[in-house]
Amino acid sequence: MKILVINSGSSSIKYQLFEMTGHQVLTTGLVERIGQDGSRIKHTRFFEDGRQQTVDQQTAIKNHHQGLAAVAGLLIDETHGVINSPSEIAAVGHRVVHGGKLFSQTTVITPTVIAKVRELSPFAPLHNPPNLAGIEVATEIFPDATQVAVFDTAFHQTMPAQAHRYAIPNDLYERGIRVYGFHGTSHLYVSKKAAEYLGQPVAETNLITIHLGNGCSITAVRGGQSIDTSMGFSPLPGLMMGTRSGDIDPAVVFYLIDKVGMSMEEVDRLLNKQSGLLGICDAIDLRDIEARQAKGDPAAQLALDMYTYRIKKYIGAYMAALGRVDALVFTAGVGENSAYVRRHACDGLDLLGVSLDQTKNETAKGLTEIQANGSRVKVLIVPTNEELEIAMQTLALIEAEDKV
Ligand code: ADP
Repeated sequence: MKILVINSGSSSIKYQLFEMTGHQVLTTGLVERIGQDGSRIKHTRFFEDGRQQTVDQQTAIKNHHQGLAAVAGLLIDETHGVINSPSEIAAVGHRVVHGGKLFSQTTVITPTVIAKVRELSPFAPLHNPPNLAGIEVATEIFPDATQVAVFDTAFHQTMPAQAHRYAIPNDLYERGIRVYGFHGTSHLYVSKKAAEYLGQPVAETNLITIHLGNGCSITAVRGGQSIDTSMGFSPLPGLMMGTRSGDIDPAVVFYLIDKVGMSMEEVDRLLNKQSGLLGICDAIDLRDIEARQAKGDPAAQLALDMYTYRIKKYIGAYMAALGRVDALVFTAGVGENSAYVRRHACDGLDLLGVSLDQTKNETAKGLTEIQANGSRVKVLIVPTNEELEIAMQTLALIEAEDKV
């Protein structure tokens, strides 16, 4: 059975087509700069013998409909395609960023679901509208496929009130102001993989999952369920990120508006797009920052000190929240690749039962463990795969529906 996974952003559509038997990726691609100059599609086909073939088409793509129609064209193309007709795709799994408190599960998309996702758009104005655009055009272009929504927030719906409430008046909670948490698909995927690697049921496994990509978040997972997470009402708080500040005293916002004279939009841009690593050392990519740090650059050193210290503080907090921790799990671009960040995030945690084997940390590749002999808490690196998780959840849902 073939399942297409779509992540539709404001000016881009990322996609992967899976053959679910064997979880094989058939094609992957990206439509970018939709509605702008220089729009293009990069499409890669994978062959069973390990070969791959990429086509990079520079072509005018005015809107999401044209973009997805072009993807459908490539999927059935004689040279680059893998199917004969769009009807071969059984289901399309859509990444939807905000499911609010309305969606704690992956859901088959109906007009009611679309209306509810639209209702939630004020909570995620940059994400839910383009996610909806992806759903609408996929429904037109793949009319025979079941359309399924997989929500970034769903995994965190298990957080108890003590973790998901803000200490503000109750009527604001009724209006939806609470912690939602994000990156749920990744935290869920690596939790299951980590439990499998440890050889114990996920329902009996306590983990701290640390997703460090361009966006960063950390989650306390008890028995396979999220009990606390570092992002909140929006994906802004918590860890320091590429361009986002992470935790900051909200009084800074009042000050910036009232005394510095910034507008609300300027503060929004400042905290979301001009802060984090970029704000401290004028760079986003950890590889560049590590290279500068190695040459003694003080701004790069400060950025890395702040970035890793914040992770360490959250690890400590979530160890307290969980009581017993089986493993820390590092994932995503930085978590999977940066020995420096893992080393410094775990540095000094020996008394809490976390010690790294520095050689294993430096030479780690793929899913592996890097704790020192005798470390009470294991430290794992688990490559994330949000697209595969979306495809697996989509498959599980349509199989369950078929049984009804
Ligand atoms: P996204 O949140 O966009 O999915 P990724 O999970 O792909 O992000 O992570 C992107 C980040 O991973 C980049 O900013 C880069 O800093 C970091 N990264 C990738 N490879 C390495 C590496 N070898 N060493 C350090 N950082 C890396």
